[in-house]
Amino acid sequence: MDNKEALRKLPAVDEVLRSPEVAGLLAEKPRNLVVEMVRKVLDRWRQALLTEGAKEEMGRAEITARVVGEVIRETARRSRANLRRVINATGVVLHTNLGRAVLAHAARAAVEMVASGYCNLELDLQSGRRGSRYAPLEGLLTSLTGAEAAMVVNNNAAAVLLALSTLARGREVIVSRGQLVEIGGSFRIPEVMAQSGATLVEVGATNKTYPDDYRRAITDRTALLLHVHTSNYRLVGFVREITVNELVMLGKEYGLPVMSDLGSGFLVDLSHFGLPAEPTVQEVVASGADVVTFSGDKLLGGPQAGIIVGRREYIEKMKKNPLTRAIRIDKFTAAALEATLRLYLEPDKALVHIPTLRMLTASVTKLEERARKLAEQMHQMVGEKALIEIEPVISRVGGGAMPTADLPSMAVTLRPRQTESENLARILRTGEPAVMGRVQDDRLILDIRTVLPGEEEILVQAITAALQSGEEVER
Ligand SMILES: *Cc1c(COP(=O)(O)O)cnc(C)c1O
Repeated sequence: MDNKEALRKLPAVDEVLRSPEVAGLLAEKPRNLVVEMVRKVLDRWRQALLTEGAKEEMGRAEITARVVGEVIRETARRSRANLRRVINATGVVLHTNLGRAVLAHAARAAVEMVASGYCNLELDLQSGRRGSRYAPLEGLLTSLTGAEAAMVVNNNAAAVLLALSTLARGREVIVSRGQLVEIGGSFRIPEVMAQSGATLVEVGATNKTYPDDYRRAITDRTALLLHVHTSNYRLVGFVREITVNELVMLGKEYGLPVMSDLGSGFLVDLSHFGLPAEPTVQEVVASGADVVTFSGDKLLGGPQAGIIVGRREYIEKMKKNPLTRAIRIDKFTAAALEATLRLYLEPDKALVHIPTLRMLTASVTKLEERARKLAEQMHQMVGEKALIEIEPVISRVGGGAMPTADLPSMAVTLRPRQTESENLARILRTGEPAVMGRVQDDRLILDIRTVLPGEEEILVQAITAALQSGEEVER
């Protein structure tokens, strides 16, 4: 029997649709989806029959049964929402692939409020006139940072683009070669610069830049001196980087504005919690930078947003730039950011109520206590199916922030006895909710730092179920 002949064993679309199982599926799922899945599965079988040969041992009935089974599985997979809850046991607090910052309770409540009804997004309820979605945020940001003015756009990449386009379109911006950063997901300073219509003038060497390098590069075409925080890497060794303070002095000398792209700006000093001593947004503003940009969903612990604070004359120009309309924030961002910023009015509260800050400042003693308890619960549920231990690990800030900060943490580790730990990790990753840990030396490591309070029980259940199905696969 040649391969073409083998195709006769493949059922027609209608036949599959009439089978009792698929007919049952049609009662629950959209017909278009089921038909699409039937076509997809049949195509796959057609290819297999043509290329892999006749599969002589299989009769028409068996092939049909298999096709039906695959249609049911594919339809189930496609019916599930793509965005799912993930339990983050990676220890990376600001995991960009996992949606960066987890919102504070107050921010979630604010999003729920504006999502489920109308709100005064652009209405001033006092006067009954049109209001601004930015005004309440600007008030909070200026009092928190000490800046004269503020505005908010979609993300920090957009904030940098808007600032450059407003202050330097058609003119030159000077940046140190050591600061031409690329941030994950294709944000590169030279490319953003090109997009903004400004011309990049690079000065210094990768590892060393001096104020005199700027002096030589400043001409009457210069519009701006830009400092970029080297968020996600560190130059070490024979290094001399220019500081914001030095740029501010140069700016004064030549009458040029200075902008600082902080990336992951933060409003509370975390250095006494073992994190690197880096200047807060307030400090950068106080040092005299004219424009400061940072993300809403990095160390700030709020929604995705690009925050711009600085001198009123520059911020007012940015507000009038037509680009602003294209990168404006929506009501969900406005609600979540306002609620998050309000928490910062009392910094002690911020540390407790903003999950990002709470996770970053958790003590090892606390983490060990939680890890021990979780390990005990798991052991009770899975018994001898896995060797469960706790051990010290290192967590990361993530989100391209503080790349050299080692945060000592505690993890629960699992060595499954009947399956590979890679396999266990895969089952957990594709489960509901998904669980993300990391595999190292044939054990699954679950860093407790990023597991949210209340997720432990779900995690134990997920592990129990995954070990069960892992064993079934192996048998
Ligand atoms: C993260 C980062 C950006 C981009 O911010 P998004 O909020 O991801 O758009 C820009 N510049 C620096 C220095 C950063 O660290």
